[in-house]
Amino acid sequence: MSQPEDVTRVMFDQYMVPNYAPSSVIPVKGLGSRLWDQAGDEYIDFAGGIAVNSLGHCHPSVVNVLKKQAESLWHLSNVLTNEPALRLAKLLVESTFADKVFFANSGAEVNEAALKLCRRYAIEHFSDKKNKIIAFKQGFHGRTFFTVTVGGQASYSDGFGPKPGAVLHVPFNDLDAVREVMSDDICGVMVEPIQGEGGVVPATDDFLYGLRELCDQHQALLIFDEVQTGVGRTGKLYAYMHAGVQPDILTTAKSLGGGFPVGAMLTTDQIAATFKIGTHGSTFGGNPLACAVAEAVVQEINQPHVLEGVLERERWFKEALSKINTRYHLFEEIRGQGMLLGCLLTEAYHGRAREFLQAAVKEGVMVLIAGPNVIRMTPSLIIPQESVEVGMERLERAIGRVIEC
Ligand SMILES: *Cc1c(COP(=O)(O)O)cnc(C)c1O
Repeated sequence: MSQPEDVTRVMFDQYMVPNYAPSSVIPVKGLGSRLWDQAGDEYIDFAGGIAVNSLGHCHPSVVNVLKKQAESLWHLSNVLTNEPALRLAKLLVESTFADKVFFANSGAEVNEAALKLCRRYAIEHFSDKKNKIIAFKQGFHGRTFFTVTVGGQASYSDGFGPKPGAVLHVPFNDLDAVREVMSDDICGVMVEPIQGEGGVVPATDDFLYGLRELCDQHQALLIFDEVQTGVGRTGKLYAYMHAGVQPDILTTAKSLGGGFPVGAMLTTDQIAATFKIGTHGSTFGGNPLACAVAEAVVQEINQPHVLEGVLERERWFKEALSKINTRYHLFEEIRGQGMLLGCLLTEAYHGRAREFLQAAVKEGVMVLIAGPNVIRMTPSLIIPQESVEVGMERLERAIGRVIEC
């Protein structure tokens, strides 16, 4: 077997499909909101595995649950059910609007399930013609061909041949545009309460209310893609709880497993009944390891002091970022909610978000981007104040370097 020091970044270019451009450093250890690379250099993690490491790295209670489950039962298939899946389903139902849960392994997979369910429900209850889906420009719903087609960036879905049809894209937060295309042929509307990949752009409460009303008028299902906003990310267990607008279907992944791949689609009894035996499925969906971990993650996060802590951390971040901005006048806007934050660069720096990300790595802090003009941060929901302070000092140094050169 090769030694750890034999593993280098060069191997990425040698052995892996070149659809990513990872940083030159390779982290080998994480604890809380800190990472260490092969050389032992330390980083503050404001990226959180893209809104995934909701409790930071190697949270002790989650590690314990994973170890315990690893010594009990790994996998069964859906020919048999298992205790962790049943416990997680009950927990999600009891914590949300939902009556029923479907498990899969990723955001794209639960969105795929949601879109198929929505189409099938409309065809079963109304007519074959009720098959059109309304979605939003700059929206992101995953990379399967159906989900990427529903997503609102043609650059992600073009070039693969014929796309799944009957998908209409309109501008986000524009209710009039939705009204114009809404009809009884619409089976569903898929929307992110905060567009994550699209630049950290929150939907207004009025927009979400309006979508609910329009869906009700036309018997269309309202699907909230909470893959990025879910599981405490915005300071509520799910973002729909802020606006008080209830979806018919909700999808959740990313933070749900705290770093273990798992996704869930939540819906009502009435809609769930459309998925009959064999209508849809997934080999790994409901895997005991994944569900045991997710149960521990949801239990840990869905406590008032943790959720309030997310909003407190939002204030720490926004204050620190504003302070950096008074010095550098770099951000047009600091937006987002809870631990899903985006800094829109001023026009002078448009197209340069990635430079800031790369400079940040060099200074010892991991951040993300959301498109070419937004620096995005999705840290642990329980990141300690000291890590925020140290990370912000490093980020400020990185910004200084980009601006001064
Ligand atoms: C990340 C993301 C997805 C896709 O999730 P994967 O696990 O990468 O398939 C879907 N929707 C939203 C809103 C996301 O942020």
